[in-house]
Amino acid sequence: MPPELSIVVPMFNEQTNVEPFVAAVSAALVTAGIEHEIVLVDDGSSDGTWAAIVELARARPALRGISLSRNFGHQGALLAGLNHARGRAVITMDGDLQHPPETLPELVAAWRDGFKVVNTRRLDSEDTSFFKRLTSRGFYWLFSRLTGVTMEAGASDFRLLDRDAVEALIRLGDADPFIRGLVSWLGFQTKTIP
Ligand code: UDP
Ligand code: MG
Repeated sequence: MPPELSIVVPMFNEQTNVEPFVAAVSAALVTAGIEHEIVLVDDGSSDGTWAAIVELARARPALRGISLSRNFGHQGALLAGLNHARGRAVITMDGDLQHPPETLPELVAAWRDGFKVVNTRRLDSEDTSFFKRLTSRGFYWLFSRLTGVTMEAGASDFRLLDRDAVEALIRLGDADPFIRGLVSWLGFQTKTIP
């Protein structure tokens, strides 16, 4: 039986984050009673990331590790993880705890309400520089103008995809995808939460 939810996480030189990340994600999901697996993708790290994943997986059957043959970059690692995820819904998130695990139940709740894509949007904090805000907005504006694909400013790769959306994305067969843009292009009932 596939788990209800897969968490897919690209990891590049994150050896010190592996254990605290898994602990925080498991705690959030167990508290909310959400059945899950965690898929950690080692993207050709040069530190002890893979050793840390193997060590942790010994004691945790719901944890699976994937070791890529070289460094493919964030998007390539995400795609590898999506290909191996078995959940009826899949959440992608960064492995450095910059995407808050306590929001995971909120993404799942939106999916249970019927949304097939649940995006998150970064909230600019007071210490976000004027330069960062300007270049970020500029990027999304220009990207939309050039491609005709709309993406919200502050969009991130912290998102939930229903199994239908995962299969559609994989079927595109893009070996070097820009996942944020492709997910928007695919369509599906979408909700964005901050
Ligand atoms: N990452 C990866 N391969 C890379 C670079 C980054 O798998 O070549 C992972 C990284 O470990 C993290 C996520 O992708 O989990 C986002 O990377 P990073 O934190 O460097 O990006 P930023 O926070 O600047 O958006
Ligand atoms: Mg980061």
